[in-house]
This record gives sequence, structure tokens and C-alpha cells, in this order.
Amino acid sequence: MTRVFNFSPGPAALPEEVLRTAAAEMLDWQGSGLSVMEMSHRGKEFMSIAAEAESLLRELLAVPANYRILFMQGGALAENAILPMNLLRGRASADYVDTGEWSKKSLAEARRYGGVNIVASGQDSGYTRIPDRADWRLDPQAAYVHICSNETIGGLQYPEYPDVGDVPLVADVSSDILSRPLDVSRFGALYGGAQKNIGPSGLTLVILREDLLGGALPCTPTAFDYKVVADNGSMYNTPPTYSWYIAGLVFKWLKAQGGVAEMARRNDAKAALLYGTLDASDFWLKPVAREHRSKMNVVFRLQDESLDEAFLAGAKARGLVQLKGHRVVGGMRASIYNAMPIEGVQALVDWMREFERSHG
Ligand code: PMP
Repeated sequence: MTRVFNFSPGPAALPEEVLRTAAAEMLDWQGSGLSVMEMSHRGKEFMSIAAEAESLLRELLAVPANYRILFMQGGALAENAILPMNLLRGRASADYVDTGEWSKKSLAEARRYGGVNIVASGQDSGYTRIPDRADWRLDPQAAYVHICSNETIGGLQYPEYPDVGDVPLVADVSSDILSRPLDVSRFGALYGGAQKNIGPSGLTLVILREDLLGGALPCTPTAFDYKVVADNGSMYNTPPTYSWYIAGLVFKWLKAQGGVAEMARRNDAKAALLYGTLDASDFWLKPVAREHRSKMNVVFRLQDESLDEAFLAGAKARGLVQLKGHRVVGGMRASIYNAMPIEGVQALVDWMREFERSHG
């Protein structure tokens, strides 16, 4: 068996230990005689799996007691609709910060349910920087302020979260949840698809301040009403049980590694190694402003684009896969989430240096 270093933006690499545990438990979960996939979501076995996953996540992110954690389906794109349906709460509009592809999708979807004010946009910079907080034109009456914590395609990340006063701050954390410590109490809601730092696709996590529950628009599908989901322990409808189970194994792995503080330390080291290599030479173009560079999705281009295919083919031959950038921005993108070990980044950097020596 040969496993590659997988730099995919998502679904992304999972810790090998997690996959091994899942394989060992595939046919018979802990003496139950059942695969987790075959269990009733209301049975005591799955209820224990679900509760353990939630409590581990609470512990990892120090989620305060007045926040609920919802295990939903539909991914972040569905949540872009579900969230305004639930959180507009009779207000005329919500504020959105436009930092690239994913926030543009969020605000376009929200427009179907209410007013949207784009309070700042990175468009003028070609989405290479996050607009300065001082220039945001926030509306104190807004239902919430929406940001995308990490723009997976553009490769931009908030180095720290903005202060938006009393209006609830909402963040799409699909591609950097659990990669660094974060103060949940500063947010009204956090949401994200699981398939990058958490587990398989099919599961969407929502972490929500309790007082924001109960105001869903009448048109909200019952299964997507946050209050219904919360009141039923995310089991109003059948949840994505297997993804929930794998997420729990990832949380357990994370805790054993030292939690999010340790993840942040490792992610800093990985990002420093890769950006350091990129910065050492003009052979590589780095489009994103230094202070807003993502530590999860490292976006770069070759000065000479005619070498792209050779670079990617050589990488693949060395077991370094999924490095091609998103079609919107082109070039390369190395996604280095929690499950990417430093050895993978070192192997990539070694190949980059070798490639540069022979083509530079
Ligand atoms: N937001 C961000 C920041 C993302 O990275 C992605 C997926 N790449 C999405 C939203 C869309 O997620 P999904 O496909 O799970 O709906």
C-alpha cells in the first residue's frame, strides 16, 4: 500500500490513524456486531458516539454552555441559505464582507431571503487582501455580520477576527475550523462543511448562540430550522451518522495530539516552511498580501506558466497530489490542513527546490 501526500482543498486528507481505526471497526463497532453505518441513529450505540463527538468538540474549542452545536447536512453552500432564513429574525438586512469566491457565494444566496449590505470588498485589490476593518461601513441594525474566515480558493485568511460591536458576528469556518484557537464567545454563529479539517463530506457543523434560536422565517424547511434541529439533538431528521462518527474519531485524534493550540503551532510551522520557500525566489509568484496569507490553502503560481504541467506531473510522480489551483485563480494551491504532516510539506518544498534548480 502506498499513501500519497494529498494536498486537496476538500474532501481532504484525514489522519491515517483515524482511517485505521475506522477500518478496524468497520464490520463490528466495539462488539455491537454492527457497522456504524448500519446503526439506528436513535440506538444507544450511536447516541453514545454522537454525544462523545459533541463533547470532544466542545472541549477542543471551549464552546461556552450557552452555545448549541448542530450536526447538519447540505454543506456550507446550503448553510448560506439556512443561516439567513434563521438569523434574519425580522431585521431588514445583514452585513457581508466580500473577500472572494466563498463570501460572494454566501452573500448572493442571502439576497434571496433579505437585504444584503456589502460593507467592504476586496474586489479592488483583486481579492489579494482583506479590507481594513476601519473602512467597513457596518449597520448597527444589521441582523448579523458575515465573514469568511478563510477563503479556500483565493488563499486569504483573517489573522484575527474583527470586532463588530453588539451585532452577532457570523463566520464560515469551513476551511480553518480547529486549525487554531478561537474565542467562540465572540461569535453569534460559526458554520462549516466537515470535509477539510473535520472528516468526510456530508456533515455540516453549526455552533450557535442560544438566544439566536427560534426566529426562523415561516418558509424555512422544518429540517433546517435551527430551533427544531437543536431541540431534537440534531436528530429531527436522520443525521449523517457515519460522517458524525468519523468526525468524532478526528476530534479524539486532535485531542491526543495536544488540541487546537498544538495544531496552530504545527500549522504555523508548515506555513512558514512553504511560504519561506516561495519567498526565497521570484521563480514563484505569491498573489496574496503577506499579512492575509492563508495557513491552510497556500496559493502560488509559477512565473512561467508553461511549466505548470511539468511541475504537477513531477509532483505526482513523487506522491504529491492535488496541487493544481482552482480554475478561477489558476496556478497552484497546496492545502495543508491539520491532517497534513510537516513531512508532506517538506517533500513538496524539496520538489519545488529541485524543480527550480532545473528550470530556473
Ligand atoms: N465555504 C468555504 C470557505 C469553502 O471552502 C467551501 C468548500 N470548498 C464552501 C463554502 C462550500 O462548501 P460545500 O461544498 O460543503 O457546500
